[in-house]
Amino acid sequence: MKKRVFDVVIVGGGISGCALTYILAKYSGVKSIAVLEKYGSLAPLNSNARSNSQTLHCGDIETNYSLAKAVQVKRRANMIVRYAETSEKNDFLYKFPKMILAVGEAECAKLEARHAEFAADFPYMQWWDAEKIAEVEPAVALVDGKPRAEKIAASGCTDEYSAVNYGNLSRSFINAARKFSADIAVNLSTEAKKIQKFDDHYEITTLQGTFMSRFVVVSAGAHSLLLANQLGHGLKMSILPMAGSFYYVPKMLNGKVYTIQNDKLPFAALHGDPDLIEPNKTRLGPTALVLPKLERYTGGTYWDFWKSLKLDFKVLKVFWDLMKDSDIRNYILRNIAFEIPGIRQKLFVKDAQKIIPGLKQSDLTFAQGVGGLRPQVIDKVTGELKLGEASIVPENENLIFNMTPSPGATTCLSNAYRDAQIVCKALDIPLDKQQLIDDLLDGQDLS
Ligand SMILES: Cc1cc2nc3c(=O)[nH]c(=O)nc-3n(C[C@H](O)[C@H](O)[C@H](O)COP(=O)(O)OP(=O)(O)OC[C@H]3O[C@@H](n4cnc5c(N)ncnc54)[C@H](O)[C@@H]3O)c2cc1C
Repeated sequence: MKKRVFDVVIVGGGISGCALTYILAKYSGVKSIAVLEKYGSLAPLNSNARSNSQTLHCGDIETNYSLAKAVQVKRRANMIVRYAETSEKNDFLYKFPKMILAVGEAECAKLEARHAEFAADFPYMQWWDAEKIAEVEPAVALVDGKPRAEKIAASGCTDEYSAVNYGNLSRSFINAARKFSADIAVNLSTEAKKIQKFDDHYEITTLQGTFMSRFVVVSAGAHSLLLANQLGHGLKMSILPMAGSFYYVPKMLNGKVYTIQNDKLPFAALHGDPDLIEPNKTRLGPTALVLPKLERYTGGTYWDFWKSLKLDFKVLKVFWDLMKDSDIRNYILRNIAFEIPGIRQKLFVKDAQKIIPGLKQSDLTFAQGVGGLRPQVIDKVTGELKLGEASIVPENENLIFNMTPSPGATTCLSNAYRDAQIVCKALDIPLDKQQLIDDLLDGQDLS
């Protein structure tokens, strides 16, 4: 019997793989898609609601984004809002108040200037003084019922979508994809071990059998680079896995409270968030810690880490350049300390009191099993630690490899749209761009 050849095989059943399945099923002429997921459920790792901050990043409260980046991310984030509006069941997108909090004279002045700069593109954001902050988030503005000592101000809003359960969204994408005519085969507990190229197709070897495909998209998080390397691609890249942990406190916040970023630091500043799966708790974090493995809370993957890091002088130079800067060095050391039982609560409470000034050490519990791993890419040619997403799209091949740290969950639909265009062009299959643009982008294509 002749073996079946899929149009597209997607390796990885996280939010990236599921969003692409949906976009291809709804808007393209692709007839058959196989999703291969290593574990027994969809979104088991970073896209799971326990692993990330559950934020729909719109650029309004992320002070590590420039205005240009914020505007770009907002349009991409809005694709999830548009998707939710047409979805039969919304168990993934939620409205909570959100704000950027400034503490002290210098931060208040900085935030006021940013608020003015962003006002035209983010007209729903309001300028809040201490009194208004106390109305929205009493625990941020008051200690024992009295105003906190430092001057505070915020740029915030109360009626916008701000939180997403990306695990539920992943499942929603697959359920929605199944309503269209394409044949969707979701293969759980199916790990792609090897990808090989043949004349007119690729073969993906798994313990469950071999899958043949005309196009392969690998959205396997930190594992994508190793699979690319097997085929000789992305050899000048390394993966630096940055774990992020969280702490729980009893429910003290009503919404998301982000703090002002130190521009030198590579990761988002500490924030406080409601937890969609633990509604009686507030989550604080994430921390940032290099871990020598590719998955946070599963066994193994240590050897895969070393193979993906490809330690040499170029990688060491990137580490050296980071450690040379005292702000970054202190940040790295402090984040290591945040993981050490015995001292971690004592240190973390000091940082967290910036958000909740009345917080006590005894309120904090390390959120065991919560948090994920951001696959940050080191470009060994430029000697840069890349902070955003990275993809490898080899020329004259029907292959894409995606590595998507934050805000990769927020931008899942725009990334899927980008990949769908590449897939459809290579396979000469139609893609109804206009319908997608009308449905998800309010009639105006992404630039
Ligand atoms: C602490 C933290 C906080 C974050 N907060 C946010 C946030 O608030 N908002 C936001 O937008 N983003 C956030 N992110 C980033 C976001 O979680 C990721 O960008 C997103 O989940 C990436 O999705 P993905 O599908 O590409 O990867 P993943 O969710 O990691 O999925 C990859 C999948 O591939 C599977 N896989 C791996 N290897 C194989 C193989 N060989 N064969 C088959 N399957 C394989 C894995 O099991 C996994 O299910 C955060 C990340 C972290 C770590």
